Amino acid sequence: MSDLQTKIEFLKSVGPQRADLLKTELGVFTFADLLMHFPFRYVDKTRFHKIRDSREEGANVQFKGTIRRMEPAGEGRKMRLVVKFKDDTGFIDLVFFRGISWVQKKLVVGVEYVVYGKLSKFGSNFNIVHPEIEPVSEANLEEALSLEPVYSSTGKMDGKGMGTKGILKLQKILHNQLKNMEMPETLPDYLMEKMRIPNRKTAMLDIHFPKDNETLKLARNRLKFEELFFLQLRLLQIRSRRKHQLKGHVFEKVGEHFTRFYNEKLEFELTGAQKRVIKEIRNDMGRGIHMNRLLQGDVGSGKTVVGLLSMLLALDNGFQACMMAPTEILAQQHYSSMTESLSGLDIQVAFLSGSVKGKKRKKLLELLKEGTIDILIGTHALIEDWVEFKNIGLAIIDEQHRFGVAQRAQLWKKGNISPPHVLVMTATPIPRTLAMTLYGDLDISVIDEMPPGRKEIKTLHKNETNRMRVFGFMREQIKAGRQIYVVYPLIEESDYEPLEDLNNLMEGHEAISKDFPPPEYQISILHGRMKPADKDFEMQRFMKGETQIMVATTVIEVGVNVPNASVMVIENTERFGLSQLHQLRGRVGRGAEQSYCILMSSFKLSNDARTRIQTMCGTNNGFEIAEVDMQLRGAGNIEGTQQSGVISLRMADLAKDGRILQTAREIAARILDDDPKLEKSIHARLKAYLESEKKGKSGWSRIS
Ligand code: ADP
Ligand code: MG
Repeated sequence: MSDLQTKIEFLKSVGPQRADLLKTELGVFTFADLLMHFPFRYVDKTRFHKIRDSREEGANVQFKGTIRRMEPAGEGRKMRLVVKFKDDTGFIDLVFFRGISWVQKKLVVGVEYVVYGKLSKFGSNFNIVHPEIEPVSEANLEEALSLEPVYSSTGKMDGKGMGTKGILKLQKILHNQLKNMEMPETLPDYLMEKMRIPNRKTAMLDIHFPKDNETLKLARNRLKFEELFFLQLRLLQIRSRRKHQLKGHVFEKVGEHFTRFYNEKLEFELTGAQKRVIKEIRNDMGRGIHMNRLLQGDVGSGKTVVGLLSMLLALDNGFQACMMAPTEILAQQHYSSMTESLSGLDIQVAFLSGSVKGKKRKKLLELLKEGTIDILIGTHALIEDWVEFKNIGLAIIDEQHRFGVAQRAQLWKKGNISPPHVLVMTATPIPRTLAMTLYGDLDISVIDEMPPGRKEIKTLHKNETNRMRVFGFMREQIKAGRQIYVVYPLIEESDYEPLEDLNNLMEGHEAISKDFPPPEYQISILHGRMKPADKDFEMQRFMKGETQIMVATTVIEVGVNVPNASVMVIENTERFGLSQLHQLRGRVGRGAEQSYCILMSSFKLSNDARTRIQTMCGTNNGFEIAEVDMQLRGAGNIEGTQQSGVISLRMADLAKDGRILQTAREIAARILDDDPKLEKSIHARLKAYLESEKKGKSGWSRIS
């Protein structure tokens, strides 16, 4: 290990200047770091082609042969050097336009060379322009027949002779040094045997210089497995430690609040999925372990009532509860619907956000501290330091993907004796592989069933030529008593819209106002630059049915619930991401009526945009959509992954390596079941590796 920690400037041919580049540009400080700078692709040079058989334009080929002649040709800008090259099957021209005299000096007629390049067609003949060419010698023949690694570098490095070829040279030097050196193994022997993967040293060496595709595959599998396995091992360890060490408040009673609400107030029968999830939550909170649970459920699947029932359990056991929502609108909506649901039950519900100020806030904080307030609903103002509870037993976060991990952690601190149980609710379905990684330390519940009576939303793709018909359709729907959203893109992730987006919205609003004039039609408008009070006013008008059309930016995206709205028109659909489109569509289809989502776009669409639109038209299933989203954008670009370790995975790709991940998690779980603290001697390597990682000295793995 210590040898791998050698500083990079001590590698032959590196020196201070190159070392600086490696450090600042690539974060390579040690031998180990360089070793971990894996190739991102390989050039296939595993065989020599025959000149006679090489007749595919654009193909990459490698020949072995000799130079017969070299002759300059052409004049001025067309001046070139033509090298007549021959193997035992035929001739081909190698053509050089640049560095002619240097090439002429370097190459020798009659000597054997290895040539690599791309075939181009010239008249009826093939040639290779600016091929790589190297004399055949014992040393590099083996290398010639290989997969040549290609490394990422930066523009600054390219300019200093440290592009991919430069790094390749360093990797070769390192490779030769490491070949005869011990490299500590991290996985138990039995596991490598069972998984049929090579040992660590072999994999580390082969990943840079694989003999063939088979070797490369094995090396890759090993490194991917190792990366995902240790990630899962760590996440599962955190989970098991939390469960076993952290005391959770025991909510053993189902009391008056829960029962009365359930029997007297709840207007519908819970779906099977809702009942199952409530059972899971009760089970967690009833037995003294600490709950940290993620509740996933598509938009409209009825997460709120599950949250509410869980809060009532907390109250029944003498604790307070809170619910945090990402926007003022959503928090307000939760507040008013819950106050209504709980009316007559002698439960004090309060609202807190940044806009609650002065005396009002002071009073509220007092009541909260002395325990008069039972349920606090609000925005991220809830997690500010000055908010103190008497005894918080349960904290719910709605629409988790809008909150960072840090904010989640803030909530834990609100408990006086021990942290409150935490329930995180999200309507952004996350592909399984991603959930296992992002929330690998959480327990996961899924509501996979919609309340009865909902009709599948019909989704259609239209463009500007259909505009009048779309307007006609909107009129029909309004006549039938329905309401309509028209949404414009807002690319930024905050409540603040860029001006040009705002202009789009305003123009759209104007156009719609012309076609839908008062007094017959009333239109609401909603965007992030409006004052909270105005926003609220417009939202209320729409919710009460005083306006039929809501023209808005994506501020309406999260959680807003107007069951009478049955049409969602999305403008400039191509500018939205899949998960956002799905979220938006979820605003309709909440009542008993048939709902529609109309995706307006321009004619010209990129391939990705087309796939997104086709996916939306093809399915209403959030998990399917999330999967496509991850395939399109890569796991690291999915919302919520930025703060996590996912993007620092070096080898594995969550979008592609789902099976390896699944296996890794299962094996990690089995090992921890059998040996939670990794004390058995067969797990010594695992323990040692995790500990070295914790100390941060290994530099081997940069997961999270
Ligand atoms: P989300 O999961 O998106 O937060 P909500 O909790 O807002 O969904 O629920 C959407 C709508 O469905 C609400 O109007 C809610 O009252 C209603 N609802 C929830 N559960 C059921 C159910 N089991 N049967 C009928 N309607 C339900
Ligand atoms: Mg919701």
